[in-house]
Amino acid sequence: MAEQRIPFVKVELDDTDVAAVEGVLRSGWLTTAGQVKALEDELAAYTGTKFVNAVNSATAAMHLALAAWDLGPGEEVITTPYTFTATANVVIHCGATPVLVDVRETDANIDPEAIERAITPRTKVILPVHIGGEPCDMDAIMDIARRHRLKVLEDAAHAIGTLYRGRPIGSVSDAAAFSFYANKTMTTGEGGALATDDEQLSARVRRLTLHGMSRDAWNRYDAGGSWRYDIQEFGFKDNLTDIAAALGRSQLTRLESFIEQRTRVAQRYFVNLRDEEHLILPAFNEEHRQPWHLFMIRVRNETSPVQRDDVIRQLAERGIGTSVHFIPLHYHTAYQKLGRWQQGDFPVAERFFEGEISLPMYPGLSDGEVDEVCAALHEILHP
Ligand SMILES: *Cc1c(COP(=O)(O)O)cnc(C)c1O
Repeated sequence: MAEQRIPFVKVELDDTDVAAVEGVLRSGWLTTAGQVKALEDELAAYTGTKFVNAVNSATAAMHLALAAWDLGPGEEVITTPYTFTATANVVIHCGATPVLVDVRETDANIDPEAIERAITPRTKVILPVHIGGEPCDMDAIMDIARRHRLKVLEDAAHAIGTLYRGRPIGSVSDAAAFSFYANKTMTTGEGGALATDDEQLSARVRRLTLHGMSRDAWNRYDAGGSWRYDIQEFGFKDNLTDIAAALGRSQLTRLESFIEQRTRVAQRYFVNLRDEEHLILPAFNEEHRQPWHLFMIRVRNETSPVQRDDVIRQLAERGIGTSVHFIPLHYHTAYQKLGRWQQGDFPVAERFFEGEISLPMYPGLSDGEVDEVCAALHEILHP
């Protein structure tokens, strides 16, 4: 394969990130402490929420929220097959049942009408995913949740910086989980956070994050008793390190400029590709701010002379990296073994997947490089 000249993603790190991490290393305190607390406060301010729990992944943030709501066997969580496996894995790890419903043709986000049809007496949580950073129809989803007394947990792994009708994602539902994985819009290497206005939820998540441990009960009565702790329930080990949090704080100061750069890239893709008859460009609603975590195009396989897989291969031959978001969950072996879904069950998601290509997208992608990707696409699609 050709040398990759334009990768799909490039992590945006600078000297201030390096200095922030170095500062923590030199401080001698590596694990959860002041940097994590500061990141939580700064994320709460950024997302307009009262409480943020920084943890070691978005997966952990979602798992902890569901565990804190005591989700368990016999209960159902409605989500979509058009997501990364983490979204449904965490439901299964709680012993509960993921109920998959189809997405919207326009943006691959969960279809509120399909949610409504899937509700049963066992439904407890709706788990929408903001694909690529474009928000789901949260007004409709919150309305359904209120009417049926359901919780809403957002998989906001792509949506740090998304504004839903002017409101930051995080402040819209019961809780939202962000990802700071290496290829996400801002990174801590590995990391994530849960944002909520619910103090009880945040407190329970905090306890579950570290083994179910509490020190508070003892410290109050025992001045010298810092060695004492109590295990109040069986928790997990999902805390974030101060090393990672320092990187996150440094990245968060530049998040708005990352989003500006991503928006520049997206606009250039739109201008260059808008007349390409063999492609469908991403849909977005001007009422929101979309941070362009991904730029998801679709090849019109029915009419294009070159099909999606071939387009990806020919881009790779020219040194251009891409990805595909997402292989629908029910195509994977582990999901098939559950015996609940088969190909054809989610026609909209399946069709979206068949054509989808995620183009290179990162703040440092130059206008010239965007033009090169677009020129390559035009050439490939008109052999
Ligand atoms: C990346 C991603 C996750 C998982 O995030 P982690 O921080 O790696 O746990 C969950 N959902 C979606 C849609 C993602 O893209």
